[in-house]
Amino acid sequence: MDKITLWESTLGELQLNLSTANFQTWFKGKTIIVSWENNLVELGCSSPYVKNWIESRYQVQIKAILDNVTGENNGLIFSVSPLVNNINRKPKNKQPSSNVGSPAPLFLEPDQDLFKEALSKANLNPVFNLENFVVGSSNQLAYAVAKSITDQGSKNYNPFFVYGGVGLGKTHLIQSIGQQLISKNPKLKVLYSPCEEFTNDLVTSIQTKTTREFKIKYRSIDVLLLDDAQFLSGREATQEEIFHTFNVLHSLGKQIIIASDRPPSSIRKLADRLRSRFEGGMVADIGKPDSELREAVLLKKCAAQKINLPSDLIRQLAECFPNSIRDLEGGLIRLITYSRVANRPPSPTLLKEVLDLTQKETARNTNPKKVVEIVARYFSTPVSEITGKHRQANLVLPRQIAMYILRNNFNISLTVIANIFNKADHTSVIYSVNKIKAQIKTSPKTRVEIGEISERIFT
Ligand code: ADP
Ligand code: MG
Repeated sequence: MDKITLWESTLGELQLNLSTANFQTWFKGKTIIVSWENNLVELGCSSPYVKNWIESRYQVQIKAILDNVTGENNGLIFSVSPLVNNINRKPKNKQPSSNVGSPAPLFLEPDQDLFKEALSKANLNPVFNLENFVVGSSNQLAYAVAKSITDQGSKNYNPFFVYGGVGLGKTHLIQSIGQQLISKNPKLKVLYSPCEEFTNDLVTSIQTKTTREFKIKYRSIDVLLLDDAQFLSGREATQEEIFHTFNVLHSLGKQIIIASDRPPSSIRKLADRLRSRFEGGMVADIGKPDSELREAVLLKKCAAQKINLPSDLIRQLAECFPNSIRDLEGGLIRLITYSRVANRPPSPTLLKEVLDLTQKETARNTNPKKVVEIVARYFSTPVSEITGKHRQANLVLPRQIAMYILRNNFNISLTVIANIFNKADHTSVIYSVNKIKAQIKTSPKTRVEIGEISERIFT
């Protein structure tokens, strides 16, 4: 393996572990391996700022992936390297390679600079467009609404609220609407804003006494794409600000699109007036993909990459990931990366090896704290309350479910679980685990909750 392949493979893994925004901001086109000799990897970064950021935050993660890919224990040093910018200036229109043996970027992007600039201003990721959004029975309603907004400029669906489980294409769809509208009218002011970012922006504006600028920024746009609305749960100040922003934009006839992992009625601690605004236009869900859609997605991703996978392998891969297109995509990327690194063509045997490895890796990388955080977020409850002593029903259930998952899925010892939950001994842990075990048999709601939580843990 050469240093380019090594870095492509490492980037492939990092892409799976980081948010798209972080990956694009810090790694994509900003880093290369300058040298790789005697198990010492020198990672070149595009600027001192990027170097410091990556070095302080991602060093451990990068080393772990490098060690995994090479099967060796590597030293890692960081430098600022002009070579990064040379790589970015490589000639355009290069033919994508046609076999699995040579690395190509996993997703192709349009390369008109102005268009890209408009997308970047709108905080949109160019890879999400309507052409590469595959439609099936689980997402056809949401897609039809999207098309109606982009093609006919329909104002009947305002707001458009789309909801569905993790990794089913909500972000992809709403970003595609933004991209399509910009491509039709580059002057249109589109803004994609995950609710967490909106909150951070709001907090910063309060700290820096620039709330006026904040309000102008959000209230002067033509199309607002608000993602991950479930994050609003319990955040009163953010809800208040979104409510007013919503009213201003709506009264001006501006389009508002919202995505969430659950319908407005199921977002806990959401002010009624905001809930009714969210429900006031078109609400559409994206369901779990059926096998046809999953296979179609794989075929589309392979075609974009000029990768040829035998149809039985496509079918097998699609079967392994019934719940999330993100997982499905991750499985494909891993299979291709592994096949490149091992220099073996993709096959059912290789797929099995990749799946086994992935499972082991996930179990190893998931720490109990993260599990508790995910459960807490799922129930919109602070971690401190779940691990605390209050005995209200709305805290006891999440607490018991967290203990159950730690014991059942991660085999964490009873004593460790007792420590996490500040229990003097592990009797109450045994009680909780058994209680949930019994409840799973009788309560479909508990089964769904545990299913959804484990999906989040393993995504
Ligand atoms: P969500 O926001 O629902 O959690 P995302 O929109 O981030 O999910 O989608 C996860 C990944 O799956 C993305 O890489 C996206 O491109 C891909 N994806 C999801 N749905 C589709 C689809 N219908 N066609 C093609 N790719 C999809
Ligand atoms: Mg999303």
